[in-house]
Amino acid sequence: MAVDFLVLGGGMAGAAAGYFLAERGRVLILEREAIAGYHATGRSAALYTETYGNAAIRALTVASGRFFRAPPSGFAEAPLLRPRGVLMVAPAGDAARFEAALAAGRRFAPGLRVLAPAEARALCPVLREDWLAHAFLEPEAMDMDVHAIHQGFLRGLRARGGTLLTQAAPRMIARRDGLWQVETAAGSFAAPVLVNAAGAWADEVAAAAGVATVGLRPLRRTALIVAPPTGLAVDAWPMVVDVAESFYLKPESGRLLLSPADETPVPPQDVQPDELDVALAVERVAAATRLEIRRIERKWAGLRTFAPDRTPVLGPDASAPGFVWMAGQGGYGIQTAPAAGAALAALATGEALPAELAALGLAAAQLLPDRLRAGG
Ligand SMILES: Cc1cc2nc3c(=O)[nH]c(=O)nc-3n(C[C@H](O)[C@H](O)[C@H](O)COP(=O)(O)OP(=O)(O)OC[C@H]3O[C@@H](n4cnc5c(N)ncnc54)[C@H](O)[C@@H]3O)c2cc1C
Repeated sequence: MAVDFLVLGGGMAGAAAGYFLAERGRVLILEREAIAGYHATGRSAALYTETYGNAAIRALTVASGRFFRAPPSGFAEAPLLRPRGVLMVAPAGDAARFEAALAAGRRFAPGLRVLAPAEARALCPVLREDWLAHAFLEPEAMDMDVHAIHQGFLRGLRARGGTLLTQAAPRMIARRDGLWQVETAAGSFAAPVLVNAAGAWADEVAAAAGVATVGLRPLRRTALIVAPPTGLAVDAWPMVVDVAESFYLKPESGRLLLSPADETPVPPQDVQPDELDVALAVERVAAATRLEIRRIERKWAGLRTFAPDRTPVLGPDASAPGFVWMAGQGGYGIQTAPAAGAALAALATGEALPAELAALGLAAAQLLPDRLRAGG
């Protein structure tokens, strides 16, 4: 079967790329698993914040926020963003780190407010009086409906004539006669353009295709769900993040999601939580709050996959005709997906970066390591 664009990987990156590419030609997404959101996409903390990451990430996030707030008609039935807020907290010994986080945050979140400890505890009453010394609130941070966003892209892909094929692991990837050929158990496919949206496996896909890898590092992050304290409604709490990023907690459907904000390098895999990280989350949250964690209801780990400069690798590889990268989304792959998908579709077809992204100060050159760029 021949199409215009083959996309490897049906997570958020591949779904967004497929959705925008389908405006320009016939798209086939090949996903190795039975469920497209099985890996990082289904395991995130679902937070949207415009203060996170470097300049390229922030431009992609701001543009994606516009999409989330006003998606095309029929994209989703409910709002994709809901107010959450992030409360950054620090103990007395972390004053310098707190001031640095505050100064950095103020540059991008005009509504950011310093709170007295008592005001912070009014928002999250379990914070310990003897631990909490500094706090600021970023009220604009939002919860994302990750499932609705992912399904919106896949529904839109189909409406535009595109296809998602699951359980379609490539057995062979090669460039022949000006086309990328991919053989899977589900059949053989060919296209002039191959988009590598394989998440933690994107370097492995490149190697299988005979293309130089970019040094992606999958980092494990752990999350657990615990019951809220008896008698306290937690739904309206902001997400609480320690400025040292040693833990965070976040309301999640009436329960609390905790994470030790770990970043452990591991090979690409169906990653599982390590008991030590689970224990660290419980210990750190117990030191800063009065939460009594007796039982962990659910726990998981996911891979946040970063390029060495923590910027997504996005665009055509000058060393391999028709090979296009959509990888290295790190901890921002949901909140940047619409803008990254639109950028990918433009760059894959030889167009300039969308004007909206250029107006936000982003250049295509920022999205590819020197080695992958023409003349680089
Ligand atoms: C604990 C945690 C918290 C996070 N919190 C946030 C957050 O608050 N906000 C945010 O924006 N982001 C967050 N992230 C990051 C976000 O989840 C990722 O950046 C995003 O999901 C990456 O999407 P992806 O499609 O690249 O990867 P994936 O969802 O992993 O998709 C890649 C897909 O490629 C498939 N694949 C692999 N190899 C092949 C192959 N050879 N052929 C075909 N298919 C293949 C895989 O099966 C997989 O489905 C978090 C991540 C974690 C783990």
